[in-house]
Amino acid sequence: MSPLACTLAALALLGAAIPATLAACQDPQPGYTDTPLLPDGWRVHDKNRPRPAAVDPGPATTLPTPAPSDAIVLFDGSSLDAFHSGGGPAKWNLVDGAMEGNRSGDLFTKAEFGDCQLHIEWRAPSPVKGDSQGRGNSGVFFFGRYEVQVLDSYQNPTYADGQASALYGQLPPLVNACRPPGQWQAYDIVFVAPRFADGKLVSPARVTVFHNGVLTQHDEALLGTTEHRALGSYEPHGERGPIKLQDHGDPVRFRNLWVRPLQLQRPAAK
Ligand code: MG
Repeated sequence: MSPLACTLAALALLGAAIPATLAACQDPQPGYTDTPLLPDGWRVHDKNRPRPAAVDPGPATTLPTPAPSDAIVLFDGSSLDAFHSGGGPAKWNLVDGAMEGNRSGDLFTKAEFGDCQLHIEWRAPSPVKGDSQGRGNSGVFFFGRYEVQVLDSYQNPTYADGQASALYGQLPPLVNACRPPGQWQAYDIVFVAPRFADGKLVSPARVTVFHNGVLTQHDEALLGTTEHRALGSYEPHGERGPIKLQDHGDPVRFRNLWVRPLQLQRPAAK
């Protein structure tokens, strides 16, 4: 049934029957068939791309993960001082040692990073509200432009390249290691910054992700910026940039953010 037909059918019914009818109309396999093709032959947010297999990562008993001695702690639950929002103060809620998105805007680290190892813990809202990409959506954006998706993808049929720890719009995770909503989860990400020379891309950004200790991205090259329904591209930028946390309108919580700056690509030997 088309969305319009669904809406008309729902409107034709009365009272309690309307929500039930709308629920029945939700696409069981959300995605797109009219978006650009990726180099691997799938479309951006391809409706037909296989969803990653679910893996139970076990309980969150090892969280929070202590920061190593050489890490820069971006958030320890006490303040948002390491962040700004659009140049002004960060205004997310501070709740029970976590920060929570509240539609006040994306957060950006004041410090800038190039290659790095990032640890971040997050928790999707429970009970569940919304569906598909409207379920616990946030994201970790390196350089403010390259997103590792944060999403409540626990038993969520949303498109594969939009699931938790996807390189958004480019590459699904190897497996779906999402914990149920309301439970704390962790990303450990190794991000290698893209290199530019003379205004041109020399080497793409590369990303490795462990989601709840499970490998979900292994040294994957980003195709450029991560976009909704579009192909990304590279625009030359500096060697360092902010890490952004997306305020997608859902009250996703984060805690225990720490980062270890790295220098993973070295000049070629002469
Ligand atoms: Mg997102």
